[in-house]
Parts: sequence; C-alpha cells; structure tokens
Amino acid sequence: MMFPYIPLAGSFAQLAKNAEKKKPLISVTKEAVKNPPLKIYMLGQETLRTPANRIVKVDDSIRKLAKDMLVTMYSAKGIGLAAPQVGVQKRILVIDLNFEDPDAPPNVFINPEIISSSASLDTYEEGCLSIPGVYLNVLRPSSIKLSYRDEMGRPKKMNAEGLMARCIQHEIDHLNGILFVDKVVDQDELIKQLKENKFNENDVRKETK
Ligand SMILES: [Zn+2]
Repeated sequence: MMFPYIPLAGSFAQLAKNAEKKKPLISVTKEAVKNPPLKIYMLGQETLRTPANRIVKVDDSIRKLAKDMLVTMYSAKGIGLAAPQVGVQKRILVIDLNFEDPDAPPNVFINPEIISSSASLDTYEEGCLSIPGVYLNVLRPSSIKLSYRDEMGRPKKMNAEGLMARCIQHEIDHLNGILFVDKVVDQDELIKQLKENKFNENDVRKETK
C-alpha cells in the first residue's frame, strides 16, 4: 500500500546505526536499494488476481521471503506489500507504518484472517505499489480484529484501527486477488486516473456482493 502524503526520511542509514544492538529475527535496514530482490507486478498482470495459498509451515524460506518483501517495499517507498504483488501466491504480507524509525520492527502477517470488522466505516485515500500514480478514496470498516501468525509461526491476535486497519484490509484483499480500484465509488475519477497513468480500465473488476 502506498500513501501520497508521507515523505520518505532521508536518514535511515544514519539512524540505523543506533539500532545495531537489537537483533530481531528478520533484520532489515530501512532504506532503498538500487536492485530490490523482488519485482513488483502491476495492474493487469494475472498474479494480482490469483488468490494466494495458506502457508503450512513458517520456516527460514518464509522469513527470507518476508525480508525480501520488506527490502522491496522500502525501495518502492511503500508502507505495505502482499506476496501476490511480487508474484508469490502465499498468504503473507508485510507492513511498516514506522518506516522512519529504524528501531521499530515491521509487521509480518502470515495467514492473516479478519475475525470481525467494525460497523463504522471510514473513507481514506489509498494508493498501491501495483498501481502507481492512482490515489482514490475507498470506504472500509474503521477497525478490525485479526488473527495471524508472526514470523516465528506463533499464533497472534490484534485489534487494529486507523491507518493500520486500513493497510491490513488493503493487503488482505491482495491475498484474495482483490485490488483497491475494485472498490472505488467515484468511477469518473477512477477512469481518469487510470488513463493518466496508462492503466487499462478493463483490468478493474467490480466487486459483486
Ligand atoms: Zn496494494
């Protein structure tokens, strides 16, 4: 997921020096690299529409995937990334809302499931690393309750609200082959922005509920 108004900090590397003493399981320097390990797929490519499979075992290969996804996400200046966006049909997503703080560990959600959603809804302008340049309002529940496994494979629960709830819902949609443009109400603006950014409006799929 990508938001238009969050500036990228210029001093990740410097700040990271202070964080060396801490050694989390997935250790990533929060800075852009020239050649990110994974390629991000764009609207129109089938991988984004293919539902992802549950992860049976959280092992080193999954942790390596999470790390590569994080490096790719930081390099693309995103705050969230789901595995189908990098061509991997596994139910894993990474989020970092504190990308300016090198000490704050990013979130890794494996097999995330929304247990319950609030009745109250919020509108927020979303963007997506797979649809660069397009930013549009989407209506979603303001808060959610979530179950998932962390990078150790431990079962976890979380209550999320605000930007975290927004981001998790956007990324879980990716695991189900759903994109935020499918949920946009303002069709005129959607078509205009897709055209401006050279995307094909036929690659949007209307949600049928
Ligand atoms: Zn996205």
